[in-house]
Amino acid sequence: MTTRVRFAPSPTGYLHIGSARTALFNYLFARHAGLTDPDSKFLLRIEDTDLARSTEESTRSILDGLEWLGFAPDEEIVFQSDNAEKHRETARKLLTEGKAYRDFTPKEAPSDANIKDAIKERAREQGADKNMRDNPFRDLPRDESDARAAAGEPFAIRLRVAESGKTSFEDQVYGLQERDYSEIEDLVLLRSDGHPLYNLAVVCDDIEMAITHVIRGQDHLTNTHKQILIYEALGVTPPVFAHLPLIMAPNKGKLSKRKHGEVVSMTTYRDAGFLAEAFRNYLALLGWSAGEEQEIYSLDELVAKFSLSGIHRSNAIFNFSPDDPRKWTDDKAQWMNAEYIRTMPLDELLPHVKAELKAAKLWREEYEEDDRAWYERTVDLIRARFFTLKDFSSQGRAYFSEDYDFDSAAIEKNLSKFPDLRVWLPELAERFEAEFGDKPFNETNIELVVRAFTEEKGTKLGVIMNGARTLLTGVAVGPSMLSVFETLGLERSIIRLRSQLAWSQ
Ligand code: GLU
Repeated sequence: MTTRVRFAPSPTGYLHIGSARTALFNYLFARHAGLTDPDSKFLLRIEDTDLARSTEESTRSILDGLEWLGFAPDEEIVFQSDNAEKHRETARKLLTEGKAYRDFTPKEAPSDANIKDAIKERAREQGADKNMRDNPFRDLPRDESDARAAAGEPFAIRLRVAESGKTSFEDQVYGLQERDYSEIEDLVLLRSDGHPLYNLAVVCDDIEMAITHVIRGQDHLTNTHKQILIYEALGVTPPVFAHLPLIMAPNKGKLSKRKHGEVVSMTTYRDAGFLAEAFRNYLALLGWSAGEEQEIYSLDELVAKFSLSGIHRSNAIFNFSPDDPRKWTDDKAQWMNAEYIRTMPLDELLPHVKAELKAAKLWREEYEEDDRAWYERTVDLIRARFFTLKDFSSQGRAYFSEDYDFDSAAIEKNLSKFPDLRVWLPELAERFEAEFGDKPFNETNIELVVRAFTEEKGTKLGVIMNGARTLLTGVAVGPSMLSVFETLGLERSIIRLRSQLAWSQ
């Protein structure tokens, strides 16, 4: 059977990190199946039936997040609300077949959840075991039910769950799952205002979309039992289910948009200068492994290695500490991004750096023409220490602009402590001017000149180099100072060594 999976987010917020991971696992599962069956499909369904909470803005943000991650659906996006009439027809069909019944409980009555509590409460009072079946309308004679409906009395449609028995399915992650019918209420399929409810809508759409595998968060396990009852009532074989471990906050609590804010939103990472390929790789390891040490995987490798059997049962932790700017998100996500920036083929990184420099108004067309070689070398040189694309325009700003800031800690550590440098560094500029009239300004030659200069002054090489680094780049760390000189070139090195700007800060 051709594999068809779907990612089915509810557009009630932005694309949450847990949802993005669900999308990724569905995507990888479909692409893996696609290695042997090219018809395998990854589909997208926007579950926008909760009219009060669904927003277009949220749908936009979900689509943006998916687009950034590169998960384009293989067929047109399905909007669940477009199928409401089909959902209603299905509920009516179950009613006609006696597999569902009309519940005329007035609308002002407690909500569904409260009814459940009330029923349980009454059952307890009567000393009976849980009894989910004592809805007074469950056994209303058919003609009476029809007559009341015909007279215009509003009603909800509830599934008639059998008195005894159990649902069971083999979850691909958690193994055999069983639930006694006595633990499941006669769930509402259609509200009295004609609004189809979630479990009915999901089952109808999954059948219509010919979904073969449902891969979704473990928080849906309870729904799955209810959905299986609907499949049974409809006489349709349910798909295969795989529930994913949850992604928890550092305190092992629920990771939520409301509590934790932007750190759980996918677009935050795009906007913070993460590479989609790195973030995908990070997400893949949140609850899945191929059973080996390797952690850096290309998308093709993930597709080749992905299987439901590699999904863990224990919840994953998303580590971050909101009070520490360096740990605003999970260390591993940051490490992974740095790894990608440092090691990915330069050709693949360059367009991202270009976009970042453009956004920061640091881009010059020459970087793609006369200065192309310089631009490539510079990006290659500075990328080794960067964590995000943003670093190219912040920490790396001095390479692309004359207007850069000086880090006060760097000034303190590398300049203020050595007042002689205020005279020495401009002197070094003179020396460069004198020495490099015709000699190439390259690392080997620069080293000879700087070493001789250092000896003359009776100081340490580090004092000169660190001072120069602060003047030339504004920061205290970076690539080897000889390569910084060479990259910035003779003219810019001289101007910056002479500049008194940092000293007056
Ligand atoms: N719309 C549900 C959610 O966002 C997912 C339902 C499903 O995957 O079946 O949690």
